[in-house]
Amino acid sequence: MQLKCGQCGAPFRAADLHLDRGIAVCSACGSVQRLPGPITSVTPNASEATAKQKPQGDVPVPERFTVEDNGQELIVRQRWFQWGLFFLLFFAIAWDSFLVGWYSMFAGGGGPPGVFGIVFFVFPIAHVAVGVGLTYFVLAGFLNSTVVRVADGMLSVRHGPLPWRGNLDLATDGIEQIYCQNKLHSSRDDNGHTSTSMRYEVHAVVAGQQRKLLGGLQAADHALFVEQTLEKFLNIEDRAVPGEMTPD
Ligand SMILES: [Zn+2]
Repeated sequence: MQLKCGQCGAPFRAADLHLDRGIAVCSACGSVQRLPGPITSVTPNASEATAKQKPQGDVPVPERFTVEDNGQELIVRQRWFQWGLFFLLFFAIAWDSFLVGWYSMFAGGGGPPGVFGIVFFVFPIAHVAVGVGLTYFVLAGFLNSTVVRVADGMLSVRHGPLPWRGNLDLATDGIEQIYCQNKLHSSRDDNGHTSTSMRYEVHAVVAGQQRKLLGGLQAADHALFVEQTLEKFLNIEDRAVPGEMTPD
């Protein structure tokens, strides 16, 4: 038996299959799917794979997620908080303290005169912008949640309480399919080094158009959990979409 991508129909390569986690990441279209269990025919190291193969069915609720489902209303909530935020918090405090110190010197009349005074004032403006952005990011990380709510024929996505982009409203009767996609996320540090990590997104197909529901998820399991929970509540069959999907 050959395993094929449910999204674009391309046969999975060995490198696409992550048997230990029970998922496949299609190298042709980038979609992330749960493998039908149990798999025996495509196992480079079968003993490991079969030992860890998870049974198909309900996905356990991942850490930081909660689900409320009373049959009429579904609420999937993901807290943003992670322990790594403390590192960023201390960094933000150090960064902001330096800038406050810098400008309080200036406010006290301690800055150099003339053109140097202007340079003294203007030079750290970019650092102030970074400080504001970083502080907001850290606060949002501590306070915010993402809430996906399905009720009364509408699916809504809200990030809050601190405003964040990515809010969305969709009529549920237009949703044809929900699927997961991986996306290479690159970030650049102060030294200009670019590092990449894999992020996961949940998309819906509405009238043949792709709409991103959630992005930036750190684990394939998180995206697949949201997909499966929504599909179950909305009674959408997990079927292939005709036509090729390419990552944007
Ligand atoms: Zn594919």
